[in-house]
Order: sequence, then structure tokens, then C-alpha cells
Amino acid sequence: MERLLPSRFNPAELARSKQSGKLILPVTHFKRFSAMLANAGGEVVAQAKFDLNETKHATAVGSLHTSVNVTCQRCMQEMKIDLAGDFGFIFVTSEEEANELEDDFDPVLVDDRNEINSVDFLEDELILQLPLRTVHDNEQECDPAVIEAVESAQQGPAKTHNPFSGLDKLLKN
Ligand SMILES: [Zn+2]
Repeated sequence: MERLLPSRFNPAELARSKQSGKLILPVTHFKRFSAMLANAGGEVVAQAKFDLNETKHATAVGSLHTSVNVTCQRCMQEMKIDLAGDFGFIFVTSEEEANELEDDFDPVLVDDRNEINSVDFLEDELILQLPLRTVHDNEQECDPAVIEAVESAQQGPAKTHNPFSGLDKLLKN
């Protein structure tokens, strides 16, 4: 059974009853992530299956996806990209506990009420999915007027500031 989870919840409770949950969060809730975008429209959808592992730690295995607006670094226009990733988390109550684990899952610290904030534990995963360089797949999709402006801005100063420009001509004469 899958249910919609609130933004804060107790993962151990879900794990004990082996529940599956779904999260739908606006991109604006992810402050660090949305600062890397052209605008913070859209929402992040995640689903996870909660379980207890052999050391009785709560775990969450699942995936997330979203569609966000980034800036194309070739033509500076906004473009939409789809991001998707899988995660495996293990919930711990202290850093020491996290260090003692022999688990491949990423440790997530619960607060003093044994709860977690969904934004906190999903944000790093979301940032990881963002490509380092975002450009339109096909150069044809880029705005040609902007590319021309960017290129001439890059070439312009180099030409005028070259102290040897015109030297070739001088030597030939
Ligand atoms: Zn472009």
C-alpha cells in the first residue's frame, strides 16, 4: 500500500510496517537546489519502500524524478530537463552510529523526535542528478541570435587588444 507522506515523518514507524510512501514536494522547498535553476517551477516526486534491515535500522529504497527549468549554457535560454535517480537510505540517530554501519546505504540522521524532513534527505540526491553542463541536446534548438552575440563578445576584445595585430601587414610591406 502506498500513501502520500507529509514533509516530516518517522521512518522507523513506516519501516516496522514495511510501508511504501510517496512524496510530492514543490521545487521551491529545496533552497540549495532551486538556487541552481533558471526558475523554481515544478515539483519533485519520490517514492520509497521502507523496511528494517538485519541490524533493525529503518531503510528506504526508492526513486525520485522531476522536471526543472535550467539555463542553456550555450544560448542562455531557459530549457526544461528531466532528472531521475534512485536512492537507498538508512536512518540513524547519531554520527557514531552512521560510522559503525556496514551498509551500502547513505546514512540519514533523524532528529530528536526520530523524524526526518523529506526536503533535507532528498536534496543532496537531487543536486547529484543535475548535470554539470546544461545545454540543449541539439544545437539547432539554441537561439542563434544569442550564440552570435556571445561569440562576438568572446572574440571582440581579443582582436582589439592584440598588440601585434597589423604586424603581419607591416612586415609584408
Ligand atoms: Zn541552447
